Amino acid sequence: MRRAWQDSCQNPLEGASAGPIKTQRSRGLWASNEGHALLAITDAHLDIAWSSLRNGRDFVAGHPDAAAGLPDLLAAGATLVCATLFCAKADREDETPQELAERQLAYYDALPGRSGGRVIWPADVMDVGTCVPGKNVCLVGLMEGCEPVSEVADMEEYYRRGIRVVALTWNKKNRWAGGCSHASGVTAEGAALLKEIDRLGMVHDISHLSRASVDDLLATVRGPVIASHVGSDIVFPHVRNLTDAHLRAVAQRGGVCCLVLYQKFLAAGRATMDDTKRHLMHMLELCGADGVGIGSDMDGGFGRDQLPAGIRSSADLPLIAEALSSEGVSDSDIAKIMGGNMRRVLTAVL
Ligand SMILES: [Zn+2]
Repeated sequence: MRRAWQDSCQNPLEGASAGPIKTQRSRGLWASNEGHALLAITDAHLDIAWSSLRNGRDFVAGHPDAAAGLPDLLAAGATLVCATLFCAKADREDETPQELAERQLAYYDALPGRSGGRVIWPADVMDVGTCVPGKNVCLVGLMEGCEPVSEVADMEEYYRRGIRVVALTWNKKNRWAGGCSHASGVTAEGAALLKEIDRLGMVHDISHLSRASVDDLLATVRGPVIASHVGSDIVFPHVRNLTDAHLRAVAQRGGVCCLVLYQKFLAAGRATMDDTKRHLMHMLELCGADGVGIGSDMDGGFGRDQLPAGIRSSADLPLIAEALSSEGVSDSDIAKIMGGNMRRVLTAVL
């Protein structure tokens, strides 16, 4: 029943039956409101609560220095966002990771009321299906680092509170796994937590894991796997970027690798739209059109000046669709990359 409902509500550009729109129609299409409505963009990674609380910025009103305020997301027609709980770095010395997680969850819990219903949190599958580009945005919780988890059994409560995507660790090693700045893999306790994440029916995020942790995770889990904000290591070598083998492995399992827009991971010096395209085209080659997405990480510890030249905020995300179009990517594939693929993975776990 749920499957059938989802299929009937698919974006008209998705799926084999829809077929690609003729290229001449797409010229300029993605810059228009009609194009935004067709894209229904998904951003797989935004630290909304962390950056708003840390910088004293209001997500709902937007802020002159913020790249990913609600007005920008609505302007792009984004309908779905993975919103993080980021507790790996304490903001205050006297605050535990659990308290920090609670403060961030409280921020999300208040958003539907504060935004007059324009923010939907925690979103369910019906919310995502009925969300209107330009009118509202659904948020799905992503735990970026399991510092707030004291015991494996705690994860169920975070599930209840809206978390559906989990990354065991951030850059460092914690009790669950080695992060990308370490060589170590998933610990025995981490393996038990991965099984619990599977049992609850959540998505695994490998973005910040060490190469060894990614191998361990892929050998352990049965559930869906994504990389919420990464680049390609062969295009630009960086510990935060995925090797070809890992990009391929995620896609082969039906998962999605989402391109980050932090220039430090994309190129040496000032990243351009060409650098962005190079990563995306390589990821497309390895993962196929069903395995690539966008996870910008805008405002995630870096500012507008660290986004690829030409992109200043979430409102500019449709420029990536234009860039893919210029590379000859079909309109139906563009719609999958910009939103459909992550919507497919997330709606299956909501
Ligand atoms: Zn991150």
